[in-house]
Amino acid sequence: MKLITSLLAAAAISVASFAAPVFAQDKGTVGISMPTKTSTRWISDGETMEKLFKEAGYTPDLQFADDDIPNQLAQIENMVTKGAKVLVIGAIDGTTLSDILQKAADAGVKVIAYDRLIRDSGNVDYYATFDNFQVGVLQATSLVEGLKLDSATEPKNIELFGGSPDDNNAFFFYDGAMSVLQPLIDSGKIVVKSGQVGMDQVGTLRWDGAVAQARMENLLSSTYTDAKVDGVLSPYDGLSIGIISALKGVGYGSGDMPMPIVTGQDAELPSVKSILAGEQYSTVFKDTRELAKVTVNMVNAIMDGKEPEVNDTKTYENGVKVVPSYLLKPVSVDKSNAKEVLVGSGYYTEDQINN
Ligand code: BGC
Repeated sequence: MKLITSLLAAAAISVASFAAPVFAQDKGTVGISMPTKTSTRWISDGETMEKLFKEAGYTPDLQFADDDIPNQLAQIENMVTKGAKVLVIGAIDGTTLSDILQKAADAGVKVIAYDRLIRDSGNVDYYATFDNFQVGVLQATSLVEGLKLDSATEPKNIELFGGSPDDNNAFFFYDGAMSVLQPLIDSGKIVVKSGQVGMDQVGTLRWDGAVAQARMENLLSSTYTDAKVDGVLSPYDGLSIGIISALKGVGYGSGDMPMPIVTGQDAELPSVKSILAGEQYSTVFKDTRELAKVTVNMVNAIMDGKEPEVNDTKTYENGVKVVPSYLLKPVSVDKSNAKEVLVGSGYYTEDQINN
């Protein structure tokens, strides 16, 4: 009897050890190339995708490129060499990937542009992102609301900041914002006192907060020695923090110098805290967990030989083709709804935003 029991046990073990590889079906490697770790949003994008791809049976190869273009090219090249089936790329500079994407296409690798459009290449299969024009509309709408233009008796002074000119999104954010601001500038309700408008004058290379801070400091000393700035259009929280720091440096946010209305994007923790403390006025929340899900669904469809779900086939022309896209909805967040939106959705815990 003992012998039979141990034979059965041994058989069970060997069945189990045989069974594992059969059921743990490996669907292949997915290369995930994220631009940087300097902004927490990209870390959570990367980590969420890593987790979801693992759960779906893929082997994710997650790399961050430290905002260094040659580094990103080398990482992607390595992914292709190692046999990735699909590449998910958040580009640093959307125009620099044509050669490596040709190699990827020659090797039969599919490519998804993640959040940022990859330009000047026919080898971009799909684009997963948010409605980027709408992000700009939300930023400007919140700026206008914060300026209380309806009850204003005098024009309000604002300054404009744009994102990185090598990121296609930056133009969509700017254009979206200007669709709201331009009519108010034309009617004289808002004045860009420095006269600096247009992405060539207001862009911020690599979305660098220090660059934005330095530009704000220059604007304050060149344009605002005998006038006050009432609002600043900032397209990204990392820039907003730099801008606020420059403003505080000359006394805004205390005494008779109220903090100007400063917008943002990404609902990064320092900015959420700043919003709750009454400094930054608003941000735009883009749920990176949803974007990761959309991307994993796209990859699943591609691997099953099906067409991924898209909801926009006309907006994102990349210089060679219109890339079929899935656009998620951005949400405007200020002090009035920050907790409800960010804690309510489980994006942050109450503790995280309070401490
Ligand atoms: C993203 C934004 C982000 C910015 C800076 C853009 O491409 O869409 O969410 O704020 O890059 O990282």
